[in-house]
This record gives sequence, structure tokens and C-alpha cells, in this order.
Amino acid sequence: MALIVQKYGGTSVGDIDRMREVADHVARTRRHGNDVVVVVSAMGKETDELIRLAGEVSHTPPGREMDMLITAGERKAMALLTMALADVGLAAVSLTGSQAGFMTDATHQNAKILEVRADRIREALSAGTVPVVGGAQGMATETRDVTFLGRGGSDTTAVAIAAVLKADVCEIYTDVTGMFTADPRLVPGARRMARMSFDEMLEMTATGCPKPAMRAVEFARNHGVALHVRSAFTWESGTWVKDEEEGAMEQAIISAVTHDTSEAKVTVTRVPDRPGIAARLFRALADRDVNVDMIVQNTSVQGTTDISFTVPRRELRAGLEVANSLAPEIGAGEVSADEDVARVSLIGAGMKTNPGVAATMFETLAANGVNIEMISTSAIGISCVVRAGEVERAVQALHDVFELGETTVEAGR
Ligand code: ASP
Ligand code: MG
Repeated sequence: MALIVQKYGGTSVGDIDRMREVADHVARTRRHGNDVVVVVSAMGKETDELIRLAGEVSHTPPGREMDMLITAGERKAMALLTMALADVGLAAVSLTGSQAGFMTDATHQNAKILEVRADRIREALSAGTVPVVGGAQGMATETRDVTFLGRGGSDTTAVAIAAVLKADVCEIYTDVTGMFTADPRLVPGARRMARMSFDEMLEMTATGCPKPAMRAVEFARNHGVALHVRSAFTWESGTWVKDEEEGAMEQAIISAVTHDTSEAKVTVTRVPDRPGIAARLFRALADRDVNVDMIVQNTSVQGTTDISFTVPRRELRAGLEVANSLAPEIGAGEVSADEDVARVSLIGAGMKTNPGVAATMFETLAANGVNIEMISTSAIGISCVVRAGEVERAVQALHDVFELGETTVEAGR
């Protein structure tokens, strides 16, 4: 008998029929003798809708009220799901984030978990009841206000509960059947990976793979929580990520190709090439909470250099404001923005020890007429910024060249 945390995403509980299917699955898991904690996200696109409403009623909605509003989405979903569980004869109890013991800091819309006092979850479990916890929410210790953990925060809720309860696995139910060698919408031959390492999953989520939420993967790795990313539509076994899989996974050099079309590129020209100038620019960006990703600085010509960096497109305006106001102060030239970029990345634990991966990547892009505008590398990844219109072609070509679709699928567990 195992203790299983099951997190259901928005599409998994998108309507009442889906809620019933989820309830059946929870019941099935219980019948197999397991204890289950359910974490639920808001139904369908409800979170987006609530954010839209707030924008209609106010230009600057107070953070406290935003969190009160957004967490209502999960609260509605958890109550309905608990009713569906009662309907299939399961004792269940819904719990808000604060009832479930999620103590956070007071950073509205991006609250950090400080502690999980999981007494009520434990009590429910020992009474044979299924706790159904609202995802992505908590209560600030100082202010006692309701807090929202941020977009994708329900994954973090689930992983945190799994960590605190030392659950056997945290199952992340979503609308895809696991982690793929490339986005199956772009690459029909993309293959589901039966297992992968935390490092590779982190690198995938950092380079554009939308699920699971990167913060949750990081949390799972730091606390040794086994993850199983799987479908709430087919219920088949998906992709496992476990501590002991580190390095011992599929012995491929390259595991996946990811892409990201959510970033934009900013270029500041003729930046004086002196100590402290780049520091001022990037400190100012950080102070405005602009998340800079890739940075490229050219060799200097006559004492100045061009600096380009990428930022999430929704932070582009803030990034431009910072760069524009700082450029004259630091004696730089023009600032320009380019929204027509995308990033394509190769992920693979084996590239550390295998030379030639970058060369093959660049040759493949060249052969397909894709120009590389920026390059960055990590221990287990290489990313290139290319024209947005060319990213599909780049992903398909790289998936082909590295034969990611060829290997046989490992049997699931
Ligand atoms: N419903 C919230 C969102 O969409 C939280 C979550 O699903 O993780 O961001
Ligand atoms: Mg969601």
C-alpha cells in the first residue's frame, strides 16, 4: 500500500464529466489499497478568466484581492470534485490552502511556501478520508491573508505535500501522456520518455516545455519526491522522474528538443566597454523584476559593444523602459526590441562527455537555412535563438538528426 499524491490540472477537471472520471480514478486508486491526497487546479481556463475580470474592473488590482479572487478558482474545483467523490462513495474532504497548512510569505501572486503544517491532511488520511486540497494557495504568516503561489502553482502544492508526507509518488495528471522528445504538435514522431532525470526535466521546463511547472520540478528534485507525469484522459503510465534515475536513464546523448516562443530580444547598441556598465544595466533590470534569460555581448569595437538579451515577452515593456532610461546615463546608443524570435534547445545528460553535439546542431540548422542569432550552453543543454518563423523547421530537423523518434519506447511501470 502506497501513499500517492494526485494533482489534477485544469483540463483534467475542465467540466463535470471530467470531474466524474477523475473521481472514478481516485476511487480505483483507493480500491488498490493506496492512500490518496488529491490536489486540484482551477477548472479549464478559469484562472485566466478571473485575471481578465480583475483587469476589467481595475487597472491596478491590489495584490491581496487578486489572490483572493484567483484562489476562488481552485476552491470551486475542490468543492465540486469532493462532491463527485462522495457520489462514488468515497469519504473526502476539501481543504483550502490555509486549512491544509500552507504557510507562505506575503508576496501576493508569487508567494513562497515557508512551511506546510499538514495536520489536517494527516488527520483526514488516518480517518480513511481523501483530502482534496486547493492548489497554488496558502496563507501569509505575517498578515494572515490568502496568498496565491503563482501560475502553475498547483504542481508545487502537490510536490510540497508529497515531500512533507514522504509520499511514494506525486502523480501530475495533465492533458498529455508524459514528457516527449519534442512537442508532439510539431513533431508527429515524437516519443514519450518512460523515465528521465530531474536535471533533464528541469532543463526541459527551463527551455520552453510548459509542464510540469519548473518550480515544482526544482522542489521535487531538492526533496527527492518521485514524479510521475501522466494523462488524466488515457490513464496510461507516463514519464517517471526519480532520484535514482539520475544518469542511469536511457543512454542517449540527446534526450529531447524543446522550443520556446514566449521570449523577445532586446539589443542595446554602443554600450561603453568599461567595468561596471553591464552590471548597472542588469541590476536595473533585476530591480524591475525583469527576468533576463540569454545574454550576448559582442567584442568591442572602438571601446563600445552591442549587448543583446532575451526576456519573457510579457516583461518586454518593462525591460525596454529600463534600458531606454538607462542608455543615455551609461552613454550607450539605441535600444531596440525584436519580438519575432524563438529559442530551440537540445537537452541531454550525455552531451557533457560527447564532443560534437554543438557542431551537429549548428550544421543541421545551417543545412535547413536557419540562421543562429544567439547561443547559450549549460552542462546538459544548448540553446539557439532563431527567427520565430523558422523554429518549427529547426525542431523537426534536430529531432530527425539526433534520431530521437527512432528508439523503442521503454515499457512503462
Ligand atoms: N490555476 C492556476 C494556474 O492556472 C494554478 C495552477 O493551475 O497550477 O496558474
Ligand atoms: Mg491551471
